[in-house]
Amino acid sequence: MKKLSVFLFVIVICIWGYDLFQSEINFPPSTNSSTSINEGDLILINSSYAMHENAIPTDIIQAEQHINYASIDDSSIELSKRLVQPLNAMLKEAREQGITNFAINSGYRTFETQQSLYDELGANIALPAGHSEHQLGLAIDIGSTNGPMGLSEEGMWLAQNSWRYGFILRYPEGKTDITGISFEPWHFRYVGIPHSQILFDEQWVLEEYLAYLKENGSYEMKSHKIIYVSSIDQAKQVANNSPYTISGDNLAGYIVTVKKQ
Ligand SMILES: [Zn+2]
Repeated sequence: MKKLSVFLFVIVICIWGYDLFQSEINFPPSTNSSTSINEGDLILINSSYAMHENAIPTDIIQAEQHINYASIDDSSIELSKRLVQPLNAMLKEAREQGITNFAINSGYRTFETQQSLYDELGANIALPAGHSEHQLGLAIDIGSTNGPMGLSEEGMWLAQNSWRYGFILRYPEGKTDITGISFEPWHFRYVGIPHSQILFDEQWVLEEYLAYLKENGSYEMKSHKIIYVSSIDQAKQVANNSPYTISGDNLAGYIVTVKKQ
């Protein structure tokens, strides 16, 4: 019995020691990080690039039950759980500023839903199944109950402020030649902070941002450094002991977001 206790004690010490060693050589903890090129907040999905099945969300929830400060008439509207906090915070701030007539009209779509939309509306209006950001659970269509979104206070407020909560106006005016989609003042995509700020400041669409990163290798801000690399091993190395997150771009590489200390 005594021998067994000593044996167990030695095992525990070994495991503890190994853990300690591991934690010393481990990279810093990160959140929402992706290890696949086809996953993450920054993956590009458009008419040319389809989503990979890895990107199908597994945290889908009902919008009606979780989203405040917006009218949601359809109980079948769903979205990724990740959007709940930033979306509620954004709509709350708008409400505090007197902008209150938001309506959530669309959220997560399954492959089948997107397929039926495409069949029903045609290629000029809908994207084929596998090519819509709505299938990621990271896109929402927000309208105004006060008229057309592009002309409403709600649309104008979101266009100016949504970046502060990690969202981008994905299909802005004047970028149709790049996005392939006409101006959609209602479609917001979550990319997370600080990327939403960069896109807003530079007036880039996601296609332009990813092309810039790929070509230049990095983007420097006061608070973060954004680095583009081609392998997951490189992605982990460039963080250099600072907190980081990783997202694939769905094309050829990884975007590492390093928080400056
Ligand atoms: Zn949309």
